[in-house]
Amino acid sequence: MNYIPTIGLEVHVQLNTNTKIFCGCKTSFGDPPNVHICPVCLGLPGALPVLNNEVLKKAVLAGLAIKAEIHKKSKFDRKNYFYPDLPKAYQISQFDEPYCTNGVITIEEEGRKKDICIIRIHMEEDAGKLMHSEDSNVQESYVDLNRAGTPLIEIVSAPEIDSSDEAVLYLTQLKSIMQYIEISDCNMEQGSLRVDANISVRPEGQEKLGTRAEIKNLNSFKAVKAAIDYEIERQIDLINSGEKVLQETRLWNAVSSRTVSMRSKEESHDYRYFPEPDLVPVVLTDDEISAILNDMPELAYQKKERFVKDYSIPEYDAGVLTAKKEYAEYYENLVKKGVPAKKASNWLMAEMLAFAREKDLEFKDLCSFENLSALLLEIESGTISGKIAKTVFAEMIETNKDPLQIIKEKGLVQITDENAIVLVVEEVLKENQESVQSFLDGKDKALGFLVGQVMKKTQGKANPPLVNKLLLERLKK
Ligand SMILES: [Zn+2]
Repeated sequence: MNYIPTIGLEVHVQLNTNTKIFCGCKTSFGDPPNVHICPVCLGLPGALPVLNNEVLKKAVLAGLAIKAEIHKKSKFDRKNYFYPDLPKAYQISQFDEPYCTNGVITIEEEGRKKDICIIRIHMEEDAGKLMHSEDSNVQESYVDLNRAGTPLIEIVSAPEIDSSDEAVLYLTQLKSIMQYIEISDCNMEQGSLRVDANISVRPEGQEKLGTRAEIKNLNSFKAVKAAIDYEIERQIDLINSGEKVLQETRLWNAVSSRTVSMRSKEESHDYRYFPEPDLVPVVLTDDEISAILNDMPELAYQKKERFVKDYSIPEYDAGVLTAKKEYAEYYENLVKKGVPAKKASNWLMAEMLAFAREKDLEFKDLCSFENLSALLLEIESGTISGKIAKTVFAEMIETNKDPLQIIKEKGLVQITDENAIVLVVEEVLKENQESVQSFLDGKDKALGFLVGQVMKKTQGKANPPLVNKLLLERLKK
C-alpha cells in the first residue's frame, strides 16, 4: 500500500521591534533574567496593555509581502492555559478575527513552481522561558520573563506540503521574504523563527486526510526535515501494523532522532478563547495600508526578474544571487563598480558562496565588499589573471589583507611584456620537441600543453592570451 503524506506548517516569527507588543519593555536577547519586565508583561492586576503600532505595521507588511488580504478590522483574544512561563495564565492572541488571511508562498523545485496557500497570519505575544537546572540531582527550575510579551506573528499554511523537502523549500522561501522586508532576523538558534509541523498520512486513493500529529518547536531546517521524515515513517508503520495514529502533540528529540508523545492535542475549545476586554479592536484605514505598501522593499522574486533583464545573467544565477538580500547587495555593488555582470555572478557563486558555506559565515564576515571589488577590478585591468586572483582571494579571506598588498608582496603582477614572455616560449619549445612535432602533425591538443608549460614556468603570471598568440606565431614559423 502506498501512503501520501500531508504537511501543514505553523511558523512563529519574532518581530524585530525595539519594545514588546503591549508595553514599553525592551525586547533584547541574552540579557540577565527578568530585567525587561513591567506590570503589563507580568500580568499584574490592573495593568493595561496597549498595542505597539510598530508591531502592527510590521505584521501588515508581512501580510502584504505574501499577497494576503489585510483586514481593516481585527481583534485580540485571550487564549487561556496554565504554564509557569505564562504569568497571566493566558496569552493575548488573535482567534476568529485575525488581521490577515489568504496569502500565498510560491516554492520552486527544478523549475517547477507550486503555490502553498497561507490560511492566516495573526499577531500574538510570546511567553517567557523556563530554565531547568543542568544538574540532574537538583530538581529546580527558574523562570525568565524577559521574553514574555515579545511580539510574534504566526503564519499558518494550508496542508498542501507533500514532503519534507517541500517543507524546507517553503521555510527557506518564507525566511527569505521575512528577511527581505526586514521585520525579523529569523535567527532560528535564538528562537526568532520556530516551526510546528502538522503531519498526517493517508492511503493512496483516499480523499480524506488521515489523523494528524503536531510536532512542536522545531528550531532548525535540519530538525524540520528529520522530524517530518521520521513522523511519516512512524505513522505508516502504525497503520500497517493495524494500530491507529493518535491526534496528539509530539516533541522532536534531536539526540535520539525520534518524536515522542507530549500530550493529547488540544482543540481550540480547550483554550476557552474569549475577546480580550482590555484592548480595543485593531482598525486600519486604506491610507494606512497603502502607506505600509509604499514602504515595501523590492522582494526576492522581483529582484530576480530584474537581474535577468538588466544584467543579462541566466535565471539560475539570478535565483542564487537573490536568495539572500546580502548576496544581491554584493552583486549589484560589484556591477556598479565596473565588474562585468557575468564575471561578478561567477565569482560570488563559485568562490564567495563556496567559502561562506564551508566556513558558515555571512558574506560580510568572510570578505569585505571593498576587498572583493578591488580584487576583481585587478583582473579587469589585466594586472593579474583570473587564476592568480583565486590564490589572492584565498589568502585575503584568511588574513583579511588588502588584495593589492598581497599581489605586491607576493610578486603576482601579470607579465604582459612580450619580450619577457617570448624568452620563456622559446625555452618551452626547445624542451618539448615531441609536442611541437604533434602540433605540426595536426594535433591541436599539443598547443594546450605548451601553453600550460609556459604558465607553469611563469608561476601562472603570464598573460594567457598573449602566451597563446606568441606560441602560435613561433610554431607557424
Ligand atoms: Zn513590560
